[in-house]
Amino acid sequence: MTRVALYRKYRPQNFNEVLGQASAMKILENAVKSSSFSHAYIFCGPRGIGKTSVARIMAKAVNCKNPKDGNPCNRCEACKSINEQTALDIIEIDAASNRGIDEIRDLREKVKFSPSELKYKVFIIDEVHMLTKEAFNALLKTLEEPPEHALFIMATTEIHKIPATVISRCQRFDFQRISDTELIKGLTNIAKKEEIEIDDEATSVIVRASEGGFRDAISILDQISTHTGSKKKIGKDDIAGLLGLVGSDKIEKLFNMIETSEKKNALDFLSELLEQGADIGQLTKGLLVSYQKSMKKELDDKEKLSKYIAAVEILSKSNIAFKYALYPQLSLEVAVLKIMNILDGDILEAAKENINSNGSQQISEKISNMPKDKRSFEKKDNPEFQWHEILLEIKSKNNSIHAFVKESEPVIVGEEIHLIFPYKFHKERIEDRKNKKVVEEAINKVSGIKYKIICKVGEVKNRPESKKEPVKENFELDKEKNNDINLNEVLDVLGGELV
Ligand SMILES: [Zn+2]
Repeated sequence: MTRVALYRKYRPQNFNEVLGQASAMKILENAVKSSSFSHAYIFCGPRGIGKTSVARIMAKAVNCKNPKDGNPCNRCEACKSINEQTALDIIEIDAASNRGIDEIRDLREKVKFSPSELKYKVFIIDEVHMLTKEAFNALLKTLEEPPEHALFIMATTEIHKIPATVISRCQRFDFQRISDTELIKGLTNIAKKEEIEIDDEATSVIVRASEGGFRDAISILDQISTHTGSKKKIGKDDIAGLLGLVGSDKIEKLFNMIETSEKKNALDFLSELLEQGADIGQLTKGLLVSYQKSMKKELDDKEKLSKYIAAVEILSKSNIAFKYALYPQLSLEVAVLKIMNILDGDILEAAKENINSNGSQQISEKISNMPKDKRSFEKKDNPEFQWHEILLEIKSKNNSIHAFVKESEPVIVGEEIHLIFPYKFHKERIEDRKNKKVVEEAINKVSGIKYKIICKVGEVKNRPESKKEPVKENFELDKEKNNDINLNEVLDVLGGELV
């Protein structure tokens, strides 16, 4: 049986359970209670503090058949279908991977039709700042005259990237970083329910490492409790041991390998750290801090400074990208290789003017000259290409499951893969536990990641099997992302200290 991640298990199910956002929750609760809620909301604030969870609570609250004081009951048909993510009228869009005009046009089409089962059709657009300008314009038109039955909830970590015209159409909520006291309270609560014994000192270490993000805090607790196994009693030493895997000495070792351009050693050491259970986010953060320090030491050396700035840019981009990557380890590996290429001076000119598309092309040429076992980057990093491999893997196990899955469109949503099927019949076949297991195992085997499979019926827009040149497409996408790097992002990471 697969174990449910703790942060998913303890995702808040009503406004009262949301940690550290009391006043905003009260306002939303009252708005639902008095049926005076707005038709468009925008939730902003750092990652991992509950924006998407609140969007889902809101979707339930407005659709619940037996709401209690503005809160969803979590028991009626509507609540259940939303919790199980089977409600057709709740449309979640991850703008990070669907950022174009087509997706928003599709949304505008969908908005017109009345909800099929629920009272309100709810559109949850996560990471909305990733939308293109054209997509925002199209979205704006919908927000100007939303139909009565529609509710839009947008979430973003970067409100400054959202056009003012869009913000002005929405009711805005700024989610706060969760205080240490609240985090400790929340963690202690979960530990108690899970019968994990953890002392106060250990809890404080987790809280410090998670910097105000509840999701991160729970994930660390999860990791540590898995790590300590049946012992279930966690002390400061356990955590120090686990976080020690990305402790400063290890980061320094990796940093030095990168600086001296020991490509193979660096990649091997990186794999070793990850195999030992190091968290990619923590590793990236560690490297970022190292480069920040180096940068401050070289403020007068223009050449070195631009190298370090480029390294910081690459790492901050990777830090954002790995969250959506099918194979997160690759994001970091590619980032590390890119940095080494800059340090080699190969693409220094490019680095000076920001890492542009030429840079990534040269890097991919470099990669193709590398030893074979490290070569599969473009292929593996490309979900479409992988999907083809996944289908082949399924086919080798069961022909008819393959025939059904082939008809679907896979959409990656965090740790889940949503399979959109054109027909209910297809969906139900794959939802059957035995068949689903075949699909899950194939995905796990090819991608190395345990995704949860969610089957849905919907309009299949883009069946990856029909694409001819996935590798090229991915490359275009990569270029587009590269252009997104700007000094603001770097300064965000550095806390604006460079200026
Ligand atoms: Zn309900």
